[in-house]
Amino acid sequence: MHSSEHGGIILTGFSGSGKSTVGALVARGLGWEIADTDSLIEQREGRTISDIFAQDGEARFRELEAAVLQEVCARERVVVACGGGAIVSPTNRRLLAEYGFIVCLEARPETLFRRLQGKGSGELRQRPLLDSDDALRRIRDLKARRQPYYALADYVVQTDLLTPEEVAAEIVRAFRLYGARSASDRVAALSQTAVSPIPLPATSFPSAACVVMTPNEHYPVYVGWGALDDLGRRMREVVLQGQAWVLTDETVGRLYGERALASLNAAGLQAEIYTIAPGEQSKSLDTAATIYDWLISRRAERRDAIVALGGGVVGDLAGYVAATFLRGVPFVQVPTSLLAMVDASIGGKVAVNHREGKNLIGAFYQPRLVLADVAVLTTLPQRELREGWAEAIKHAMILDPDLLEQLEREADRILALDPDATTPVVRRSMALKALVVSQDPREETGRRTILNYGHTIGHALEAATAYGRLLHGEAVAIGMMGAAEISRRMGLLSPTVVERQHAILARFGLPLHAPAGVEVEQVLAAMTLDKKVSAKAIRWVLLEDVGRTVLRDNVPLEMVREVVQDLIPA
Ligand code: NAD
Repeated sequence: MHSSEHGGIILTGFSGSGKSTVGALVARGLGWEIADTDSLIEQREGRTISDIFAQDGEARFRELEAAVLQEVCARERVVVACGGGAIVSPTNRRLLAEYGFIVCLEARPETLFRRLQGKGSGELRQRPLLDSDDALRRIRDLKARRQPYYALADYVVQTDLLTPEEVAAEIVRAFRLYGARSASDRVAALSQTAVSPIPLPATSFPSAACVVMTPNEHYPVYVGWGALDDLGRRMREVVLQGQAWVLTDETVGRLYGERALASLNAAGLQAEIYTIAPGEQSKSLDTAATIYDWLISRRAERRDAIVALGGGVVGDLAGYVAATFLRGVPFVQVPTSLLAMVDASIGGKVAVNHREGKNLIGAFYQPRLVLADVAVLTTLPQRELREGWAEAIKHAMILDPDLLEQLEREADRILALDPDATTPVVRRSMALKALVVSQDPREETGRRTILNYGHTIGHALEAATAYGRLLHGEAVAIGMMGAAEISRRMGLLSPTVVERQHAILARFGLPLHAPAGVEVEQVLAAMTLDKKVSAKAIRWVLLEDVGRTVLRDNVPLEMVREVVQDLIPA
């Protein structure tokens, strides 16, 4: 066994914590050798880490890593920069504990994400375990799983505010002060094999499109062509074992009710179905009451699950019933309209309407599972399909230049519902909604506000047309044109981006102007831009670029009036 003074220094920590850069500086400072295990493996194999993962799997990579560590730890005076996952293996842990002073470089997930991103978009992709739609979430998740191992280090440097030089100086200082002292303690602590990682959800749902994580709940979102047949199996996976009470509407029930029941039965779940009339008028306390009657007459229990099979109307209503029946029973979303997939089914807003207004009675109540079968869109009427694309395009405009490019490039195939082109954009759009919801589950921090892009004018248009002539998504498309134009006039957005948004909305068949006959003043009044409330009271979600939003409450009323006027054909 080496003493720590004669062995070396080991740097652990997550990808992006700076181990290679800092390791090189520490080695230079001490006049030692640097061994960066990931680059040694790449050199030796003549291929990148991500190729090794892709071609031979993680297990093979771990073997190569263990071999490299054995060699490196046989030498004296080496600064070893370990791959982020090296310390998880008990053999590696024992080896490293005996070899030297272990320093963990810490950083907040946001910092890690920024650093990995800052190295160019390819960098995230080159780190195989982070190749996910939702990298920040994956970082949080994986980092939390590894935390118990990182916590075994002799010394931790929080690097968020420090330069690499400062981190290196801190490591040298700590090594000189505590290096000798640490050895025996460490060997005892790290040699134990029984470090149990925190079980966390994302890794338990490897094939999920994403996982929504709120402080109290987490749930997987599955998206696939034909995924409906997996419903029973997926419910089993999230430990739903009671009876399934499926709520649907007449149209969706006729098309997909049997298949949903068959999938549930095949997984050994008993299931019954309750059908409501299609349409917004069913989203009422009266309908909810008939569902309570049904559940009570069928002796539904608390461990049973309510499954919403349908569009946003069924989802919102079923969720409201699930939140209130027996003070809350498990709830599963199986969205069948595009709007419900990319918007309504994720985020836990459930509600019924009151005669005084939409969604006035409701709750935040998260589902246990969201499962979207993209193939069911083939039976959705064209106009409903189009309005769903408005929300997907909105997600691209506010959050994701890559998604926008994908929509532009693949428009023909997506419009024809080609499975290979459509499934990824629906999945991506749902993951974006899941990301924003996870950052602000109860609409408290303001993050979720960005989803209202296009909605200020959109809602007002819906109100001014008495909720009949425009579908929600159509109103949002027109509202997005208004918001983009305001962004341009405020000097925030280039005309090119306004043009691009115009082109993509038009390509997906969405309206760009309000119906003739709408009155400007009515729209402004509906926005509460009337005498009582100053224009300042409105918080506009505006764009600076594709994927970059800003909130502004200083849009002059006159500018809003002009922009709305221009949205209405003369
Ligand atoms: P919807 O549920 O009425 O569905 C639209 C129509 O399409 C219905 O007639 C339905 O029967 C039919 N349909 C659905 N899927 C089909 C399929 N695969 N094949 C054939 N027909 C199909 O309405 P929607 O547009 O899905 O959702 C609108 C509702 O969602 C509104 O009540 C709105 O308030 C709510 N919403 C909620 C949220 C939220 O966060 N909870 C977000 C947005 C919208």
